[in-house]
Amino acid sequence: MSQRISGVKGMNDLLPPDIEVWHFLEARARETFRRFGYQEVRTPVLEDTALFVRSVGEETDIVGKEMYTFEDRAGRSLSMRPENTAPAVRAYIEHAVHVREAVTRWYYLGPMFRYERMKTGRYRQFWQMGGEAYGSAEPAQDAELIDLGLQLIHGLDLPGVRLELNSLGDENCRPAYLASLTAYLRAHQSELCAECQARLERNPLRVLDCKNPKCQAVVAGAPAVTDALCRPCQAHFEAVRHKLDAIHAPYTVNPRMVRGLDYYTRTAFEFIADAPALGTATAVGGGGRYDRLVQELGGPSVPAVGWAMGMDRLCLLLAESGKREEAKPELFVAAADAAAQDEAFRLVSELRRSGHAVDFDPRGGSLKSQMKRADKSGARFALVLGERELASGDGELKPLAGGESVRIRLDTLGAALAARLR
Ligand code: ATP
Ligand code: MG
Repeated sequence: MSQRISGVKGMNDLLPPDIEVWHFLEARARETFRRFGYQEVRTPVLEDTALFVRSVGEETDIVGKEMYTFEDRAGRSLSMRPENTAPAVRAYIEHAVHVREAVTRWYYLGPMFRYERMKTGRYRQFWQMGGEAYGSAEPAQDAELIDLGLQLIHGLDLPGVRLELNSLGDENCRPAYLASLTAYLRAHQSELCAECQARLERNPLRVLDCKNPKCQAVVAGAPAVTDALCRPCQAHFEAVRHKLDAIHAPYTVNPRMVRGLDYYTRTAFEFIADAPALGTATAVGGGGRYDRLVQELGGPSVPAVGWAMGMDRLCLLLAESGKREEAKPELFVAAADAAAQDEAFRLVSELRRSGHAVDFDPRGGSLKSQMKRADKSGARFALVLGERELASGDGELKPLAGGESVRIRLDTLGAALAARLR
């Protein structure tokens, strides 16, 4: 026997029946994005490495140690996307979308790649869906995106997901805050993990995001960014909260939540699940405003805000609550004998062409084994075709979950099915 080849560590196969949970999530998500007027974009999985270095930031965990980066055959440095905001911005700039429309609302959904330590809800290929809005610096845009995230989660019937909100200031007030944060962290340098000791001078905000309990203890006493906001940032933050209050969106302000990417300005937020299904990984999504990113990547000065949610984690929660989009056939057609097989095959094809979900056993075999397979398929009804049915043009529609069979004319089978499934 040849040697077996395994899948890549941390990269999951999504198979039936679990895929039904994903279909449920994707259908609800697309529906929600549609209601909010967001349109789908699909960008490539590979991008120029510089795109992520310049946007996500060199000092972040993502770029510093989690990216899949390699040289292609022509010696270009490429990276598998670790997130989709930067690729979407690149596409926005490259296609000069701002020339065509003042406000652009996009969504995406797809696999992302990060070389991480794996555990429940943390993989090396994982899925994110996200919404991005370009062209408006107004607090209403932040609030709309948050509302979109909340309505999406609500539509999934997931209880126990809460919203944390913060403002990270902008280029006017951030420097002074960083100075006071750095001074505080320097005073506690010996209590920080080795990595944070190094980060402290280059990118002190990252220390706030460190998951090491020692660092978190230090961070708990750090100056709060919300106390250091300039007047315009303060006003923006208040207006976002006012809008959220107006739609009764519950949130808590967490002044130490900074998110793991460098490009955020002003509003930052996270959707957090308190669920044992997720083990220690509790963030199901997060986002914020990134008013400078489009320009920093060589585009026009266009403000933007967005969020991303982890679909693997949402699916873990959905699986626990039993939500899925079932893909069961309406009807299973069995052939009682070899003579009926051709007619059964023809009938299955015809019903499928007219829109019905119909199954049969391509192996043929005994009626008993076909009926076993019918039960396993989860079909609502079964129909057996034999000599008698072929001669009379009548058949029996048998409900597989129990109940009375009904006689129907085979040439009205489609209509009979539709009537019973309604
Ligand atoms: P975490 O703090 O859990 O590492 P993060 O801040 O790195 O999350 P983001 O970059 O904000 O995550 O991505 C948004 C969402 O994507 C997260 O809230 C999470 O649900 C999901 N996500 C991030 N990394 C992974 C991963 N390795 N496996 C599965 N889901 C992930
Ligand atoms: Mg992470």
